[in-house]
Amino acid sequence: MDCQERIVIAPVLTMDPECPRAEAMGIIGDRIKIVGTYDEVRAAMPDDADEVHHEGVVLPGLIDAHLHMERGGLKALGYAPGIASVDELISEMAERFDDDDWPGEDEPTLEQRVDGLRLVQPFFHALGITGVVDPATTPDEMRGYQEAHRSGYLTMRTVAMPYLEVGSDDTPDVDAVIARLSGTGVSTGFGDDMLRIGPIKVYADGEALKGQAFLEEPWDDGGYVGLQRISDDDLARLVSWCGEHDWGVGTHAVGGAAVAAVIAAYRKAGSAITDRRFQLIHAYLEPSAQSIAAAAELGIVASLQPSIIWHNGRGLRKTLGDRAEVANPVRSWLDAGAIVAFGSDGPFFAFDPRHLMWQTVTRRVANEDQPLSATEAITMGEALAAYTTGAAYASFAEHSRGMLRAGMYADWALWSDDPTAVSVDAVRELRVLHTEVGGRCVYSERSAK
Ligand SMILES: [Zn+2]
Repeated sequence: MDCQERIVIAPVLTMDPECPRAEAMGIIGDRIKIVGTYDEVRAAMPDDADEVHHEGVVLPGLIDAHLHMERGGLKALGYAPGIASVDELISEMAERFDDDDWPGEDEPTLEQRVDGLRLVQPFFHALGITGVVDPATTPDEMRGYQEAHRSGYLTMRTVAMPYLEVGSDDTPDVDAVIARLSGTGVSTGFGDDMLRIGPIKVYADGEALKGQAFLEEPWDDGGYVGLQRISDDDLARLVSWCGEHDWGVGTHAVGGAAVAAVIAAYRKAGSAITDRRFQLIHAYLEPSAQSIAAAAELGIVASLQPSIIWHNGRGLRKTLGDRAEVANPVRSWLDAGAIVAFGSDGPFFAFDPRHLMWQTVTRRVANEDQPLSATEAITMGEALAAYTTGAAYASFAEHSRGMLRAGMYADWALWSDDPTAVSVDAVRELRVLHTEVGGRCVYSERSAK
């Protein structure tokens, strides 16, 4: 259903603080003309605009601020090209958690990259997702996104974060990364509302379950504090170059010491921090109160993934004991006034936003009866905000996406009920019935069956 002018009639949860709920939404072309009472919408729309009554609740399209979409596409294409539903994608990806992204001997072709995207995008739309930030886009992946966009197959609004691995053959050191970044003259923000270049991706430490998170308090009695993957000097040099040349930086920093080091480096980038949407990525293991307050003050995006603690909670309890209880302190980030953007780190970690929002409210973790400490729990409304307005800010799109308001893109989904009005456990059972990106249907439960 791609009518140019339409009045969508259903309860609307706008996520717009100025007008949180509405009765109807008028759409003209790819934009929202008006959101309000039925009478207001009817009066503002052309007389011949169709009225479409929906059973369910209209929500803004969700934005997954950390989804490796193209890698997920290749993984699905390589192992299970016949998957027919998002439930199959979820179980297939869970079973193949440790498998390579791509089973073939040869590197995937450009055509295969596009085919993978065409395969998985509808399944992510079936979860109500209309935008993603791909948090580590290699040059080959960037070509894949560009080709998908050029050929008209990109239906997911994508912010791609270039990843040039420090220490690889192509970019052995920070100077080589800088030389590459400066080579073409484009920078963070370049692109359009379907495909945009985001901040670059950098790694400050490793993975928590491998004991590589760089912590302020040692992991064990031996004084081991984890793995620092980039020296303070290199990070400072890279960040200051980026800040001066219109590049943003998003840094993988799991442990508290890594988080502190990244903030110290970012601090010198000044206004570029907000202009280019600098991010702290993961930041879930013992970020200090001072770090959280500083990040909030500087306007650094906290890009958090409830999925990681869902998977790792049990293992971290085993290695860190009580220290694991306050892992992924979303409540502290929000209370400090930080900009929180939720994502999944899918398709490797769980990526169903219904499940992840439930996790942040309940603090439950996989294979454990006891939830983590409730002191860091948030509300369903806050979780939804992190998936909409927060993630839109991380996507340079707070004026065009993340809420349903006049002038913004008609990126929305019809849910079977309002996640903020049903019981917490019922949120996982809600269904997404219909999803649109820019007023175009990209998923419909009826046609999917
Ligand atoms: Zn990731």
